[in-house]
Amino acid sequence: MKLPITGGCLCGTVKYSISKKPIGAGNCHCRTCQRSVGTPYMPVLFVHYQALHITGIYKEFSTESASGNTMYRGFCPQCGTSVFGRNSGSDKIRPVNASTLDDPSIYKPHMDFWVADAQPWDVMNPDIPKYDGNPHHL
Ligand SMILES: [Zn+2]
Ligand SMILES: [Zn+2]
Repeated sequence: MKLPITGGCLCGTVKYSISKKPIGAGNCHCRTCQRSVGTPYMPVLFVHYQALHITGIYKEFSTESASGNTMYRGFCPQCGTSVFGRNSGSDKIRPVNASTLDDPSIYKPHMDFWVADAQPWDVMNPDIPKYDGNPHHL
């Protein structure tokens, strides 16, 4: 994986670069991601907070997660793209929406989580681990 990894929103107002190899990668099938992103799951790169460098003004929308923490979803106020987030329960790890990478083909998910919320029309790779809720190691 070539560094830095770059990405941004649809209109280009919000951009980011990732300066270190991501900690993990997995698809979140939770109901909140479904509605927020508008797809059956959100492909998530987990990035150490010090490795994520953001430019441009973005807004955050917060929801309470199943574990009682606050999940902040960062989006572009111009085009609405959901770009990255942060969670009050794990402030060292930033989730980044892998669909917003400049080269999304580098994304290699190694797990599916919140599969208990997955839609019947959601198609998953049977060869990677599945977690009903949050993965235990993140
Ligand atoms: Zn935008
Ligand atoms: Zn989710």
